[in-house]
Amino acid sequence: MKVNLQNYQNQNFSCPQCDWQGKGSELDIENLSEEHFIVDFECPKCGEHIGSGQSKMKDEEQTTDGYNLNI
Ligand SMILES: [Zn+2]
Repeated sequence: MKVNLQNYQNQNFSCPQCDWQGKGSELDIENLSEEHFIVDFECPKCGEHIGSGQSKMKDEEQTTDGYNLNI
């Protein structure tokens, strides 16, 4: 499942493993790769991997800001 990092905290998620249900803000963050801006989310109850999100937007904004500053 792909997680939208912009609004995942207010979205409802469910775990296929243990039937846990809750908001994205309750999920555990499994792994954060700063290099690729990938965040993995897991169930706070059983640790099952639920989804991951990629913050491409942030990367593009930083690049655009950089160019603007250089000009
Ligand atoms: Zn679970």
